[in-house]
Amino acid sequence: MTPLPQPADPTGPVAVPASGDRRRHPAPAHLVFFHGSMDCGKSTLALQVDHNQSRQGRSGLLLTQGDRSGAPQISSRVGLRRDAVELSAGTDVRLLVRHRWAAGHRVDYLIVDEAQFLTGTQVEQLAELVDESHVDVYAFGLTTDFRTRLFEGTQRLFELADDVQRVQVQVLCWCGLPGLLNARVVAGELVREGATVVVADTAPAAPPGPGGAPEVVRYQVLCRRHHARGQLGPSPSGPGQLALR
Ligand SMILES: [Zn+2]
Repeated sequence: MTPLPQPADPTGPVAVPASGDRRRHPAPAHLVFFHGSMDCGKSTLALQVDHNQSRQGRSGLLLTQGDRSGAPQISSRVGLRRDAVELSAGTDVRLLVRHRWAAGHRVDYLIVDEAQFLTGTQVEQLAELVDESHVDVYAFGLTTDFRTRLFEGTQRLFELADDVQRVQVQVLCWCGLPGLLNARVVAGELVREGATVVVADTAPAAPPGPGGAPEVVRYQVLCRRHHARGQLGPSPSGPGQLALR
């Protein structure tokens, strides 16, 4: 990562090159991170930001990893979707952008969805694109994993972003309190151990049947108390469906 420029000494004889660059680019770019729990509308917001930027005549590049649709695109639960470039842990985001430039495409801003899956190095690459190439970066990701710990990409974005915002669409636990934590559920039980990244959706098409159908991993948003207690609510097999009994 590029070391931070030292403050210019006004009495010093040597001009600081970065100040000259800044004069040529009066509007500095920004690294902005929006985070929240599952279902809080991050991908919808990502597509809205892209829409607003492109309406101003700016040209963007959309990046994602492991989107719920399984295809390289950003999709939201309210039905919006746009094609995106799929990142892997080894992708150098700076090279990705430079290759677009070399092919004659403008890249004024990046939309990075599922930013929790970025490596720390990739977040540093994004910061370098902001500072050295004046590309605005809007990143969207989950705050914590199922163990209630920050994801690697999320942590590095907290450390480096110019602006960090919690997405304000409120997701509720089954008890009605704000749901801030993501629970991983296997065979109807909240689990606290395992790989950090197991991509699944919060609402499987069909819950496992009584005949012992293969159990799928699913995720459920809970309040802190019910995450700690491992209590999944009155209808653990059907998220979002309250059983009347
Ligand atoms: Zn609760």
